[in-house]
Amino acid sequence: MSNQLLDKSHFKLYANCIPVKGASRSIICDIQRGRYNFITNDLYEILSEQSDLSINDIFSFYGAENKEILEEYFHFLSSEEYIFFCEFEELGLFPKLDLHWESPSIITNAIIDVGIDSNHNFPDIFIQLEDLGCKALQLRFFTETTLNEVSEILAFTESSSITSLEVIIPYPIKVTTKQEYISFASSNLRLSLVIFHSAPQNSVLENESLPCTYILFTEDQINDEYHCGVISKSYFTLNIESFSEAQLFNSCLNRKISIDKSGNIKNCPSMSLSYGNIKFQTLKEVIRMKEFKKVWSINKNQINICKDCEFRYICTDCRAFISTIDVLSKPAKCNYNPYLETWEEK
Ligand code: SF4
Ligand code: SF4
Repeated sequence: MSNQLLDKSHFKLYANCIPVKGASRSIICDIQRGRYNFITNDLYEILSEQSDLSINDIFSFYGAENKEILEEYFHFLSSEEYIFFCEFEELGLFPKLDLHWESPSIITNAIIDVGIDSNHNFPDIFIQLEDLGCKALQLRFFTETTLNEVSEILAFTESSSITSLEVIIPYPIKVTTKQEYISFASSNLRLSLVIFHSAPQNSVLENESLPCTYILFTEDQINDEYHCGVISKSYFTLNIESFSEAQLFNSCLNRKISIDKSGNIKNCPSMSLSYGNIKFQTLKEVIRMKEFKKVWSINKNQINICKDCEFRYICTDCRAFISTIDVLSKPAKCNYNPYLETWEEK
């Protein structure tokens, strides 16, 4: 047992370390350092409901037969820097983190799909997104295009407030050298992710000259909007911003606007409901519609099964592909069972 545990009467969770209870187990999220560990639901109870008790009172409450396991818990929490030890009088000096989420942007993120018949007026769309304060944009090209064509479109974002650009492009058969990919990625420093789909093999382009841009190749053929909505551990996001937003808002659709390949303005290109077409409506006109904003606040605390899942504040949601006709049903492309703690085989 650590000396600290003997010396101090109480313990305190660091404000950035937040336990989340699931049906069968819990996690403790360090939302500052972006990591989590599994903990038992018993430990969750100690951290959330008995955190005002002294360590001795906790030992007495659980009895001598559990002393060893409790010491292990405290040792684990302190060595992982989730808690520190202090005196009773100091407990009030460390308030909880305020998880209230706000954004000055009317729209924080957008998706624009491009298909064979798309005829988007990109300069105009980017001006509209700029006006809405949009910071993150994903462009998905479903049919063959050249890197030059994509670069020309991206160039229209150069004077915009967009800080993060992701592009999904078909694998360009005419490009043969690593340098060509790097030149493309370096043509726009806002590019944070470039995915080449329909590639001969899955790989990551090692790219020391552009440390902030990930260039990936995937064998998946992302040739329409139905290749979205997959829930996987590798898509979990753990930071203060997304964790706070997920408390009350949808982790995919909040403050999102999308334009599908035919120009329809939607919450997400995979959803059937369109609120107008970019040829005839402005994005602002659509955002003024009350119905459009309804999905923004569907959060994981309301979604069946997800509300019992320990990953609910770090997992993205999907409302386009859901398991039943109930609008609050679990994402259809999630195969995690929080009651059994298992990721089922597809
Ligand atoms: S709602 Fe689903 S399909 Fe739509 S963007 Fe989000 S994850 Fe993708
Ligand atoms: S059950 Fe819900 S919260 Fe849990 S991993 Fe699946 S989609 Fe995410």
